[in-house]
Amino acid sequence: MSVMAQSDARAVFLDRDGVINLDRPDYVKHLGEFSLLPGAAEAVARLTTAGWRVVITTNQAAIGKGLMGDRELARIHEHMLTEIEKMGGRISAIYHCPHRPDENCPCRKPKPGLLERAAREMGLHLPACYLVGDRMRDIQAGAAVGCTTLLIKPPGTKEELTDSSPDAVVKDLSEAVDWLLARECEQENISSAETK
Ligand SMILES: [Zn+2]
Repeated sequence: MSVMAQSDARAVFLDRDGVINLDRPDYVKHLGEFSLLPGAAEAVARLTTAGWRVVITTNQAAIGKGLMGDRELARIHEHMLTEIEKMGGRISAIYHCPHRPDENCPCRKPKPGLLERAAREMGLHLPACYLVGDRMRDIQAGAAVGCTTLLIKPPGTKEELTDSSPDAVVKDLSEAVDWLLARECEQENISSAETK
């Protein structure tokens, strides 16, 4: 039985900082501050191999605050894509919000604007998509549009679970991919049993 995702109306949304690379309290502002988390590129590669489109949605308020320019962000992303591709992974698209929190834009998570834009531009059916993030604001954005949500909460971290609870809590992206692929396998078995 194939574990390929059946339709390209489905995708896995990944937050960037704290999911793919180490987060920093003062923002990742240039390439020298970017460092992949162990196992993250391999985890993306497993999604790619299983037929999933992977889309990054990320708040980058450092741009709106004047701490980083678009060119530096593009350099960071080019490097990130190269590192992921070396492991066999592929990122279909990156959507970022460049605004400061006080600008009240529709795209800064916890608002779902980036997810809605990706859905429009890529023809995605959001309730069939997954979202992986390390903050409750990621989970809130995903839950608002019906995605299945996974919160990465490394042991000893403090991110508090609030009203919109994630569908799963995992320790890193690798464990998130384990959970997602196991769940897809389960659902495929259910639907193939139903069609017998
Ligand atoms: Zn925004």
